[in-house]
Amino acid sequence: MGWKHGKRWVYSITYDEGCQRLLDYAVPLHRRFGVPGHVALVASQVGVPRNCPGSSYDGMMILSRTELDGLRTEGWGVSCHGHTHAGIDSGNADFEVVAARRVL
Ligand SMILES: [Zn+2]
Repeated sequence: MGWKHGKRWVYSITYDEGCQRLLDYAVPLHRRFGVPGHVALVASQVGVPRNCPGSSYDGMMILSRTELDGLRTEGWGVSCHGHTHAGIDSGNADFEVVAARRVL
């Protein structure tokens, strides 16, 4: 993939939790400058109002699968903050890491 203006590399910005409002504010700026970003999401919180008790993001709408797919086609990256945003230990690692990655 070539970068805008023939640049050989670009900075990227990662947005925690993948709130849908990125489409209104951040994504247009990324498009304007030709630089993709990155979102890190909780696998069980795609396309729904965020519900991770204690989180300051709670209630904010999270990007849908279709919106994520659209960003991916523009070069955006997607990474995983686990299945439920819980701390990870040997008892839940398979669910929080392996299963969550499959979902995203
Ligand atoms: Zn997180």
